[in-house]
Amino acid sequence: MQGEDDDWIGPWEGGAAGPGQVTRAEFVLMLRRQGIRDRRVLAAMEQGPREIFVASVGRREAYADHALPIECGQTISQPYVVAFMTEALDVAPGHRVLEVGTGSGYQTAVLAHLSGHVYSLDRYRTLVEGAAERLATLKLDNVTVKAGDGFLGWPEEAPFDRIMVTAAFPEIPEALKEQLAEGGRLIMPVGPEGGVQELRLLDKTPEGFAERRLMAVRFVPLVPGMARAL
Ligand code: SAH
Repeated sequence: MQGEDDDWIGPWEGGAAGPGQVTRAEFVLMLRRQGIRDRRVLAAMEQGPREIFVASVGRREAYADHALPIECGQTISQPYVVAFMTEALDVAPGHRVLEVGTGSGYQTAVLAHLSGHVYSLDRYRTLVEGAAERLATLKLDNVTVKAGDGFLGWPEEAPFDRIMVTAAFPEIPEALKEQLAEGGRLIMPVGPEGGVQELRLLDKTPEGFAERRLMAVRFVPLVPGMARAL
């Protein structure tokens, strides 16, 4: 029986699946097997057509569980890391979310499905423009993207209930901590460029900040300032 869960991912022109094609059900099953349990996160990832964010590779490759190159020498995170970070951030429908590192806009789309509004910035204008187009195609209108330096955050729109940074730095930038609402939560990879980084989860409580270490990861670096070219 062909239930909704059995739909082939992406625009499927043929009548039957080719070898190695991934179904939506298989994609979600892969994430579940790795321990992702939040139904809202799984549903958001199931709905998001990942292939439009990584146009340079084939559809099958787009859903494989590893990071992939995007423009400007950056990368789109592997699906498991997107799901893990989104689940840990615990995003709710009314939340105002800041994302630093728009990249392809894939993580932005997942966050937009789960929150009230996403403010996302990247230091590459080219990436921001490409992401804005894709997000418009998906009719996600609760997203604002702009070119900007993530170290400064987005003071005009602060405070944020949730902040996600998808590039690594040896410490969490002060401006981002300041722009977190009380009761707010931030997730970010912390560590040196090219070395071992770990995901940190930071909660802003009335008693101060509480930090947890989650898992080892490898992200491209958070680089201060706007990119000169592109
Ligand atoms: N979340 C993205 C992947 C991002 S890769 C996706 O789903 O595709 C990390 C991104 O952080 C890159 O696009 C890089 O340009 C951006 N970045 C690095 N330093 C930055 C800074 N200071 N401010 C804003 N963006 C930055």
